[in-house]
Amino acid sequence: MNNIDIAFDAKHIWHPYTSMSQPIPAYPIVEAHGAELVMENGERLIDGMSSWWAAIHGYNHPVLNQAVTNQLSKMSHVMFGGITHPPAVNLCKQLVAITPEPLECVFLADSGSVAVEVALKMALQYWQAKGEKRQRILTLRHGYHGDTFGAMAVCDPDNSMHGLYKGYLPPHLFVDAPQCGFSDEWEAADLQPLETQLAENSHEIAAIILEPIVQGAGGMRIYHPEYLQGVRRLCDHYGLLLIADEIATGFGRTGKLFACHHANISPDIMCLGKALTGGYMTLSATLTTRHVAETISNGEAGCFMHGPTFMGNPLACAVADASLTLLLNSPWQKTIASIEQQLKAELMHLASHPKVADVRVLGAIGVIEMKHPVNTAALQKVFVENGVWVRPFGKLIYVMPPYIITPEQLSKVTHTMAKVLYSSIC
Ligand code: PMP
Repeated sequence: MNNIDIAFDAKHIWHPYTSMSQPIPAYPIVEAHGAELVMENGERLIDGMSSWWAAIHGYNHPVLNQAVTNQLSKMSHVMFGGITHPPAVNLCKQLVAITPEPLECVFLADSGSVAVEVALKMALQYWQAKGEKRQRILTLRHGYHGDTFGAMAVCDPDNSMHGLYKGYLPPHLFVDAPQCGFSDEWEAADLQPLETQLAENSHEIAAIILEPIVQGAGGMRIYHPEYLQGVRRLCDHYGLLLIADEIATGFGRTGKLFACHHANISPDIMCLGKALTGGYMTLSATLTTRHVAETISNGEAGCFMHGPTFMGNPLACAVADASLTLLLNSPWQKTIASIEQQLKAELMHLASHPKVADVRVLGAIGVIEMKHPVNTAALQKVFVENGVWVRPFGKLIYVMPPYIITPEQLSKVTHTMAKVLYSSIC
């Protein structure tokens, strides 16, 4: 039995968005298998989170383990400057093949936030190379794109860290997020704020960045594909770059391989991360078109100015390559459609609860939006006591389970969500 020093952890180790003086509990997990996390005391929790969208194939998958082990015995890392290697080439071949058609130049980086930084830098360098000073980014309220400075600057200005870093973040442009839900009747007026903003300021805008179809951490809002089509049309009209942040939505999560596929559009730049490695390691990819890549490369700098130490890490690329192959060789559409059906059947009726504002489901994503914020630590405790791992935040009690979750396991997750909802702590 492992012994985790919880007191040391609480005193010395920062957890995501957690106070160092009054930390909320961190649960000791010592193993994870399939769709289950194993606690230090041997109790098992069914995973409703896929470790924040990442572990799509579940944990400790033999094929992914093998991919890491094989690569480990050859080379765990080598610099990418002036060197290339099979895992990077194999992975990028797959990424070019499966992403929307004109995307064909891949930049590998460390994490989702860095992929967003890379995308923003690409947009800036693109316009610089064209001899135009365009440095503003247009984006949607309720968006979330990461925690580094460039990414933070395009996160929702109210619902994020803008207030804290006021004066330090570049002032970008924000428009109201779409109101039409995924299956609502489409209202063209949804695009009005964007149209107005572009009519006034398009000359100084380098790019529009958004999360296609699902706005994740900024509110788990699921919007209409026609909106995305409209954004693409407007970008074409004004000659702006469209950056699709598919870091959360990529690799099947919404029922399509990429959320852009719901609208049949392709962005000029696409950011991928999270499930890219099946949740095994941190890795991201920013893809762009030959046109954008060559424009940047023919500009003043003569290259794209970014090159992290662990760029193209062979272990991460090898497991990402294996994860993609595993996904593409599986009946993923069918699997995700049946998770969607089950989530709808087991969650939609909770919309009648007096404290619930909305329930929505798309692909392998199920969201209960409450009218008021919930107590994360208290709810999490009840989930754990019931053998389920769900981490609510703000007004949201939401799940995005690994695709390998069984119907019985998923029912336990949704029934526990209902149980928590009807308990006195909600
Ligand atoms: N973009 C989106 C849409 C995300 O959901 C996230 C992570 N929650 C990020 C960017 C940032 O990724 P990372 O946490 O890997 O830096």
